[in-house]
Amino acid sequence: MASNRELFLMNTAQTSNSPRMVEVERAEGVYVYGPKGEKYMDLVSGFNVSNIGHRHPKVLAALQEQMDRYLHVTVYGEYIQAPQVQFATNLLAVLPNTFGSVYLTNSGAEAVEGSMKIAKKYTGRRQIIAARKAYHGSTQGALSLIGNDEYRKAYAPLLPEIDFIDFNVMDDLAAITEKTAAVILEAIQGEAGIRIPDVAYMQAVRKRCDEVGALLIFDEIQTGFGRTGRLFAFEHFQMVPDILMLAKGIGGGMPLGAFVASKEIMDVIKDNPMLGHITTFGGHPMSCAAAIASLAVIQEEDLVAQVAVKEALFRELLQHPKIQEIRGLGLMMCLQVANFEQVYNISTYCAQQEVMIDWYLHCETALRIAPPLTITEDEIRNACAVIIEAVEKYA
Ligand code: PLP
Repeated sequence: MASNRELFLMNTAQTSNSPRMVEVERAEGVYVYGPKGEKYMDLVSGFNVSNIGHRHPKVLAALQEQMDRYLHVTVYGEYIQAPQVQFATNLLAVLPNTFGSVYLTNSGAEAVEGSMKIAKKYTGRRQIIAARKAYHGSTQGALSLIGNDEYRKAYAPLLPEIDFIDFNVMDDLAAITEKTAAVILEAIQGEAGIRIPDVAYMQAVRKRCDEVGALLIFDEIQTGFGRTGRLFAFEHFQMVPDILMLAKGIGGGMPLGAFVASKEIMDVIKDNPMLGHITTFGGHPMSCAAAIASLAVIQEEDLVAQVAVKEALFRELLQHPKIQEIRGLGLMMCLQVANFEQVYNISTYCAQQEVMIDWYLHCETALRIAPPLTITEDEIRNACAVIIEAVEKYA
């Protein structure tokens, strides 16, 4: 009989010619376990998802309770489902009161799609401005915003009237005009290899959008839910976007996304035509039950407050002459090395030692580190020892 390894390559669509091929038996906390007793430390959090670790007991309890009540009952937006209503309410309670309505999706890309639609409908404009080196997802609308020609060309034609500016470059803000429906930016560019904008830049973007009547949409799909040392990264910039897009860490390991706006902006979606943006599974009750528990864990365990201390420990332990820079904010960090060969060799060696780090879509000279926020000091020490060993060998 074929092994799962063989069936994976044969029967499941491949997204590259070099998948990591780690077979998963179970996962718990910061660890992913393989069938032969492998114990991988997950320093990537399943790509910024497992902020509270894998299979947090409070998430499991919430799932169990919801499972005993109901799974899918009907499409999003028709019946009153307590997990959706309560999660939306809890989410709004931790956001500034300029936000007043939550639309729940299945994924990040769908939050991006919905946000683009409400921005166009609300402003009556068509142009959307995104940033070079941005990543907002792989559906055709979200892909239209990808700041990388190679990816756009391969799937052209994509959406019209998308224009690009350089991230964190003040002069480019003049491109935002009365024709602009929305500016879509990651709060911190992730796939570009962690690019942190200046506070003054983000405030200038906000001001420019206000001047010309464009909406400012923040993609906090990687940065949300405590990852950067604040519950949401926009808090670092002392400004508030008009639309906030969330996913990944929102659901405690369950698939969920959301876009959040004022009630006035969100209400454009409900008529003219009615049902112009609908989803069957968006805001699945199991995912929302998990999201309620996950947000409560972040608050009750005071995880956000611990991020800065853990970041400082990583920075202290990862000092090495061959690591050119540790770029990041909170536990969203990257290690800048010389070339892709080093990135590949270092991450491969770490994987062999059962410490999982990774790389980025638009930056081939940096290593990705984004552990669960629950990682302990001892775990950080063990992980960093392996990374330094890899850097000694391969950088
Ligand atoms: N936006 C950002 C910043 C992302 O990193 C991602 C996914 O990696 C997305 C959007 C798309 O999210 P999803 O993969 O859930 O569609």
